[in-house]
Amino acid sequence: MLDVLVIGGGNAALCAALAAREAGASVRILEAAPREWRGGNSQHTRNLRCMHDAPQDVLTGVYGEEEYWQDLLKVTDGLTDEALARVVIRASSNCRDWMRRHGVHFQPSLTGALHTARTNAFFMGGGKALVNAYYRSAERLGVQVRYDAPVDRLELDHGQFRAAFVGAERIEARSCVLAAGGFESDREWLRAAWGRNERGEYPADNFLIRGTRYNRGTLLKFMIEAGADAVGDPTQAHMVAVDARAPLFDGGICTRIDCVSLGVVVNREARRFYDEGEDYWPKRYAIWGRLVAQQPGQIAYAIIDAQAVGRFMPPVFPGITAATLPELAHRLGLDEATFVQTLARYNAACRVGHFDHTALDDCHTDGVEPAKTHWARPIDTPPFRGYALRPGVTFTYLGLKTDAHAAVHFAGRPSDNLYVAGEMMAGNVLGKGYTAGVGMSIGTAFGRIAGTRAAAAAMQERDRAAA
Ligand SMILES: Cc1cc2nc3c(=O)[nH]c(=O)nc-3n(C[C@H](O)[C@H](O)[C@H](O)COP(=O)(O)OP(=O)(O)OC[C@H]3O[C@@H](n4cnc5c(N)ncnc54)[C@H](O)[C@@H]3O)c2cc1C
Repeated sequence: MLDVLVIGGGNAALCAALAAREAGASVRILEAAPREWRGGNSQHTRNLRCMHDAPQDVLTGVYGEEEYWQDLLKVTDGLTDEALARVVIRASSNCRDWMRRHGVHFQPSLTGALHTARTNAFFMGGGKALVNAYYRSAERLGVQVRYDAPVDRLELDHGQFRAAFVGAERIEARSCVLAAGGFESDREWLRAAWGRNERGEYPADNFLIRGTRYNRGTLLKFMIEAGADAVGDPTQAHMVAVDARAPLFDGGICTRIDCVSLGVVVNREARRFYDEGEDYWPKRYAIWGRLVAQQPGQIAYAIIDAQAVGRFMPPVFPGITAATLPELAHRLGLDEATFVQTLARYNAACRVGHFDHTALDDCHTDGVEPAKTHWARPIDTPPFRGYALRPGVTFTYLGLKTDAHAAVHFAGRPSDNLYVAGEMMAGNVLGKGYTAGVGMSIGTAFGRIAGTRAAAAAMQERDRAAA
């Protein structure tokens, strides 16, 4: 019988499969996607957040455990399990040698990549190259990989894994790792979770899904219905503001609009609604999807002028340009008078000191609501540019409750042979909010733990059967 079955085909699944194989187990991966779409959301990633006590190859300065933890505590508003968060943080300090052994290469942060040179190690070739390297390494080590293999249910016996089903096919194994992502691609589930707002709208109908179409939450739903302990709120997710012209799925990184902190954002009524300069963009970009989701029609418009150009990663589609603000309003379909008044009020309120986009500078507004607390400069230098924004769901946080051994729990009791990693358990660490690169840190840490534990459980079971 197979030792370890790994369900999923992204970073967490691959880390689990590699770790289990290294521990001596026979391993099979079941990936729902066809080969050409393998790798889930992980194929779209660029970096992971790493703790380090001294400068390391591609990472500058120091980013210690305490600072990492405080960053996480702040963005989650305390909705995080400290013990599990620290497992992730500590594992992030020494995982890169292991990643390199499996073919992942790193490069320093690129200019314009969100002030991340100190905290985040970038994958050379992006997440696609990382996923390809892991698949190559897995195959070389003898891990079996099956594509087009969506698992729709498991056979469980008092919290123990027995088998997984792909349609009518029953696949047995001594232990199992669940790493099948969140439910972000099930639009019906998103609609039900978000419900109807006070304007009678179903906000989720206007969400775009930044990553894979294969993370439909089938197993998450199955597990919760089967009595596994869950964690998190179904409306909590990593959500960023993306170009409204992005495709429904797999728009990836190049549709994210990163100029928010350099300009202002107005809603459909041409009014500002949030402090665009509240904090460094890597600590704030993940709140903007939700902010746009709360606006009428779930749409907003990021407005910049020529001063911002070259200071942020340009999205794949050029913005709408105009020589004057009234013309920009017209081209964006916004009420001209209100738009011009909003911009005039903002411009008049700017108190420009020493502009520095790499620091929390002293350029702020005075006497306008909402305030812009950093990087506030009048938007007065043509050409002006606007980008229509939609909420872009990266991944959902509802997941399975786990512990430092990555075990799935049933009524508070850990399973002996069923483990969970990645987005399916990220909600233990991320009750809400986000800080760039922590998704891959969670998946890498818990993927490896889950794989190692699943291998140990399988060996124990093998020994028991042989005795
Ligand atoms: C555009 C984008 C950019 C991102 N950038 C970053 C970044 O730079 N750094 C970072 O830390 N995080 C980033 N993230 C978040 C990151 O992708 C996730 O946190 C991480 O990849 C989760 O890994 P995972 O293995 O749990 O999920 P995934 O990589 O999504 O893998 C889930 C896998 O499960 C498979 N699957 C789903 N259902 C089933 C089923 N029923 N049966 C079998 N297989 C199934 C899917 O096909 C997929 O292969 C980004 C996400 C997106 C969308």
